[in-house]
Amino acid sequence: MERSKGAILILSGPSGSGKSSLCKTLFKEIKNAYFSVSTTTRTPREGEIEGKHYHFVSKEKFLEGIEENFFLEWAEVHGNYYGTSKESVESALAQGKLVVFDIDIQGHRNIKESYPELTTSVFITTPTQQELRERLVLRGTDDKETIDLRVMHAYTEMKHIKEFDFVIVNRDLKESEKLLLSIARAALSKRILYDVESLVARWKSKETPKTPNSQQGI
Ligand code: 5GP
Repeated sequence: MERSKGAILILSGPSGSGKSSLCKTLFKEIKNAYFSVSTTTRTPREGEIEGKHYHFVSKEKFLEGIEENFFLEWAEVHGNYYGTSKESVESALAQGKLVVFDIDIQGHRNIKESYPELTTSVFITTPTQQELRERLVLRGTDDKETIDLRVMHAYTEMKHIKEFDFVIVNRDLKESEKLLLSIARAALSKRILYDVESLVARWKSKETPKTPNSQQGI
């Protein structure tokens, strides 16, 4: 593989905008993708699995992690702490993977600052705030007070759209899936990820790469 390092794909946007559903398709289609599992102090929702959706920890444990410099970035969102482990991201990047984050706007800003060239970011939103509220109610995982808080937080998040590379207005899930896949493939094709010298050296030689398309895993 001529790609010498992995890429980062950040998905942000209001909770309930469809990020998780879109993520599922991404992982079905892009074999080389790695989901950065965040650590959180939030209580698990029904169906959420430890180590798959989040690492669920106590506030004390989380604060210990901050002290020990365990997190690449962390933030307080909706009254809970969320953070990304530095070590697992570094290791996935070294393996040439597409590291996918579902993080808030603060996390986006921090990751982009740490890895400006590797990062591609997408803001995912519902067409209207009314639709966001309806989806949160339909999801049935939060009480009215939490939904109000999430919708209010969405207002703040919407103001940051301009910081992102791409925007997906999630009207139609199938269309949004296609769009996200194109963005992910483009993120993995950035020139900066390639060891250009070895690519050119191989091009000059008669050696044919083992796979016809060197962009394996796309
Ligand atoms: P939820 O409670 O709905 O799973 O997530 C609430 C918000 O926290 C979402 O906007 C989600 O993207 C964000 N989030 C999840 N993990 C992280 C993280 O590791 N860092 C940051 N900054 N935000 C996160």
